[in-house]
Amino acid sequence: MTERTLRGIGATPLSAVGSVVWYQPDEAVDLSDPPVSETVDSDTERERFESARERAREELETERDRAAERVGSDEAAVFDAHIQFLGDPQIEGAVEDEIDSGLPAEHAVKEGFASGIEQFEGMEGRMAERADDLRDVRDRLVRLLVGAERLDLSGLADGTVVFAERLTPSDTAQLDPDTVAGFVTATGGRTSHAAIFARSLALPAVVGVGDELSEVKEGTTVVVEGEAGEVVVEPDEGTRERAAETDRAEVRHEPVTTADGRGIEVAANVGQPVEIEGATERGADGVGLYRTEFLFLDREEPPNEEEQYEAYRETLAAFPDGRVVVRTLDIGGDKPIPYLDLPEEENPFLGERGIRRSLGVDEKLFETQLRALIRAAGEAEGDLAIMFPLVATVEEFEAGRERVEAVVAKLESAGEPVARPEVGTMIETPATAFLAPDLAARADFLSVGTNDLTQYVMAADRGNERVADLHDPRQPAVVRALRQVVAATEGTDAWVGMCGEMAGDPALTELLVGLGFDELSMSAVTLSEVKARIEAIDSTEAERLAERALDASTKGEVDELLTEANGDRDQ
Ligand code: PEP
Ligand code: MG
Repeated sequence: MTERTLRGIGATPLSAVGSVVWYQPDEAVDLSDPPVSETVDSDTERERFESARERAREELETERDRAAERVGSDEAAVFDAHIQFLGDPQIEGAVEDEIDSGLPAEHAVKEGFASGIEQFEGMEGRMAERADDLRDVRDRLVRLLVGAERLDLSGLADGTVVFAERLTPSDTAQLDPDTVAGFVTATGGRTSHAAIFARSLALPAVVGVGDELSEVKEGTTVVVEGEAGEVVVEPDEGTRERAAETDRAEVRHEPVTTADGRGIEVAANVGQPVEIEGATERGADGVGLYRTEFLFLDREEPPNEEEQYEAYRETLAAFPDGRVVVRTLDIGGDKPIPYLDLPEEENPFLGERGIRRSLGVDEKLFETQLRALIRAAGEAEGDLAIMFPLVATVEEFEAGRERVEAVVAKLESAGEPVARPEVGTMIETPATAFLAPDLAARADFLSVGTNDLTQYVMAADRGNERVADLHDPRQPAVVRALRQVVAATEGTDAWVGMCGEMAGDPALTELLVGLGFDELSMSAVTLSEVKARIEAIDSTEAERLAERALDASTKGEVDELLTEANGDRDQ
């Protein structure tokens, strides 16, 4: 047998070898032939529907509690959203109408959910993923109504690679990372729930492979290549060995320096409790980006000051000797929150996002968040740094900092223990790359968000695979913007970091060290490898590489330089 390769989207840069188990939750449920309506008694069917809803609610509550234990309460909150869908009067009415028109309950559920699913499918970004949630609730009800068994994902054999058309939140929450080698789905993108879970649990995973996936049989040996976004079916010996070898570099719990002694802080990007645990386990020096939006997602109202205080205190406590950079709420763009009633905008990425909302319509929320943060810093050992998202003007930064100072003053005069945080800004708009000297003179630090900076510098949507070649931080225009930002901090007291995805790509570590970054922050899975790279770098050579990259006119030339540099080291 010769190996063949299926292509999809890598959810984590990890690889694994294992044996395929197909997860087909709906296999036993064939609803293609609705029975003749005269035989249906609508009262009985309504009762069956009601009792299935009750059992679904019980199951969801159990799964929520299990997920809370395993991956944290924020992830578990998705089950509350499912419970809400179960009680949604519009969906309930639609199903009952179908029953009254003569369908048995299971068919009525299928029909009654259809228009809700369709509505979500027509929306953008994370809202579109709500369609998956609704399908999950529908399939659960149908399964309960027809009495079908469900494959127990929590009890799979060691080395299993789960294959599925799609994995819903309730499916992924059952996967045990100690036994499951990885998973592959036919559908889904980088921001799908399944991909987010994979990153949280450091599970090798490839999503969005397409219909070809169905040709792979149960029991087949596969290699999941998360980094390349590939699935190798019936791999030959060499491929298997390479997959086993590409396993994680040794975890370094101490801060690292380059071979010639330049210290570079290597921090983690976090958003959920499970990621904080992953960050400490994998040797993060601190947190370089805490995306606080996750505290606000999948709930009906914003978390209050106490809830936020607890979350921030716990994170600071996890890094008693380190620094935790907390980004204030970055809502808007691709991050909608239903209860905040965001306006319909033609170009949400260029609209009311991040600090723009915090200084305007979400002023109160901003103050609550700052109070919770500064109180938490007053109690904890670790150092807090507060960072603003999507700043575009010096005035926005100044206004944000004044709010921080006002909250510090208020808490101090109330006699609360207070620790004055560092205050800095993300550099993710071209405006702030140009204004970097003015910001470096006012801020304690600058941290480059290359995901957005690249999208705005290159006018290329970060979520659109058709312009992925342009949305690439190796584009010379982006590399030059990065150098401009770093140069602006030289000779000032401000430190400069990077917390966009670029920071976690080991192939780019030498370039970033050469450009002069003091700190790199990334998702926990690449921490060890980046630390290992840093230790092997000579900073003078890295600077030379950066100079040559700054002279490059095309992405091809930058790529060539990187290939050469990485090749030299790997020999
Ligand atoms: C970025 O834009 O690079 C960034 C880190 O922020 P986010 O990905 O959360 O927009
Ligand atoms: Mg951003």
